[in-house]
Amino acid sequence: MIHKIRKYGDPVLRKECDRVEKIDDEILELLDDMVETMHDANGIGLAAPQIGVNKKIFVLDLGDGHIRKVINPEFLEFSDETEENEEGCLSVPGIYKKVKRSSKVKIKYMNEKWEEVTEEAEGLLSRALQHENDHLDAVLFVDKIAPVAKRIVSSKLQKLKKETLKELG
Ligand SMILES: [Zn+2]
Repeated sequence: MIHKIRKYGDPVLRKECDRVEKIDDEILELLDDMVETMHDANGIGLAAPQIGVNKKIFVLDLGDGHIRKVINPEFLEFSDETEENEEGCLSVPGIYKKVKRSSKVKIKYMNEKWEEVTEEAEGLLSRALQHENDHLDAVLFVDKIAPVAKRIVSSKLQKLKKETLKELG
């Protein structure tokens, strides 16, 4: 089922997420819905709070034939070396700005079969893992952009927030 994507200004994006205790039909359905919703929106990643669920889950599809379903992620390492690259977010439509992040990360998570997976990542995968994990900590990429860029997008963000709050009623 395709869900509505929550937008900037929705309080659900600013709540901490709970760990998942076990895999069950509810979680499996949620994972399927998240993948379907991400594909429908032409996104490469989607975190559970973006469809209104405050659980530590995100999905990624970087177009490499491997759809990652990530539960209870934990970073084990961040490289000191950083990279700056443009990011966008399905919850912050129309805004693309550069964000500085660690070039390489090592992450541990549970997959949809409840197996522990450890991955080392760089490039787009490293960036996407950090962006999606931030959602689970109630952080959005626009929180991390340079002050000058932030000033440039601040009126856009205010407008987006107003629209979201109006829609929520
Ligand atoms: Zn995002």
